[in-house]
Amino acid sequence: MNQVRQQFSRDYLQCLSATRAVWPLMESLFPICRSITGEGVRQSLRIVAEYIPLRISEVPSGTPVFDWTVPPEWNVTDAFIADATGRRVVDFKAHTLHLVSYSTPVDELMALEQLRAHLHSLPDRPNTIPYRTSYYDANWGFCLKDSVLQALPAGVYHARIDSTLAPGHLTYGECLIEGDSADEVLIFTHVCHPSMVNDNLTGVAVATALAQELAKTRPRLSYRFVFAPGTIGSITWLARNESRVKLIRHGLVLGLLGDRGPLTYKRSRDGNTVIDQSAAHVLARSFPGARLMDFEPYGYDERQFCSPGFNLAVGRLTRTPNGQYPEYHSSDDDFSAIGAEEVAQSLQAAECILRTAEWNDTLVNLQPKCEPRLGARGLYRPVGGGSLQQSESALLWVLNQSDGTHSLLDIADRSGIEFPVILAAARSLFDAKLVRPAPQLADARRGVQ
Ligand code: ZN
Repeated sequence: MNQVRQQFSRDYLQCLSATRAVWPLMESLFPICRSITGEGVRQSLRIVAEYIPLRISEVPSGTPVFDWTVPPEWNVTDAFIADATGRRVVDFKAHTLHLVSYSTPVDELMALEQLRAHLHSLPDRPNTIPYRTSYYDANWGFCLKDSVLQALPAGVYHARIDSTLAPGHLTYGECLIEGDSADEVLIFTHVCHPSMVNDNLTGVAVATALAQELAKTRPRLSYRFVFAPGTIGSITWLARNESRVKLIRHGLVLGLLGDRGPLTYKRSRDGNTVIDQSAAHVLARSFPGARLMDFEPYGYDERQFCSPGFNLAVGRLTRTPNGQYPEYHSSDDDFSAIGAEEVAQSLQAAECILRTAEWNDTLVNLQPKCEPRLGARGLYRPVGGGSLQQSESALLWVLNQSDGTHSLLDIADRSGIEFPVILAAARSLFDAKLVRPAPQLADARRGVQ
């Protein structure tokens, strides 16, 4: 049993040490100005590639991707607002959030009153820089603390943005962990946010640690990790991989995994797929306080994977969902907004949900007429009369329910016994030749051995 559990998923302390191993990754990525295209994404993916093998794809600007078009590439070298003395009152080099992402170039002298139309602050959080983007509207702007804005004296200011919007590429990275089957599990995390930690560096870190772990032993299913910009990145990936989507059994969108709120799983569009069932089972039993959310067509890249033309079995794992924690999309989303314990727990939950879905076989009892003699096969204690052990109860449940229509997760849910115990029982029964995989599943995949 312990062997199954260890093979199945790491314990919390192992996840904590894996989290510490990817902490420097988040620290290296934090200062970089990322957006949906540009050198920041490229540089970030190169750093991720120091941890796991990544295949980088570059998709030219102007490429049609379903109803969208890959945008011009945006790069920026400097941006500031200076007062009449030349002092920078807002400086992109001090914090990347000071510049509205995808700002067009500008070099103008403007009165403060004119400049205000291009300034964004949060009056109710006066010491916080907001995060703003203008990807698809040619515009420019700066974000600053409201306390700084309120203190600006009237006068003329110099607004300068050294940016380029030019034909280039959208960049994404993929890491494939090959398994016994060519069928794939898709793990997606967005990589387009500048200088914020919970959203989106924790997603990158957990995905990286998960890929490292899965690569240690050959999984049954293949795992494809996609690190791409939000929305346009998943749309572009789907457009370029439409013919391969049939290989995807299920998947998870990962992000916002380090804040101190409870784990939150958002169901796929159908809501009853294997990943949904696995997440519900794992979170209810092993992660007290975790929440389940129904699908809604709002959020992160699950919107694209769960669009009706794909309708993939892809759920989303976060802690507090987007928009529901005070530091969201602002300079307050720094390293103080997350905890190593929370990141480690998120990693453990993600792995356990994926492993459970991966091992969720459906079996057939080969001795279905009355109970087979388990004692004679060494599967039951020789002395009867004591209370039933859980492992023995699990054997009876697997035998009783394995008629080719109930999966191991169905059995775990119905019996109230956690999945690894049910899986261990199934393996014992397989070894004793009392069960075999249900015919529709007896394909190239391994059995439960
Ligand atoms: Zn975000």
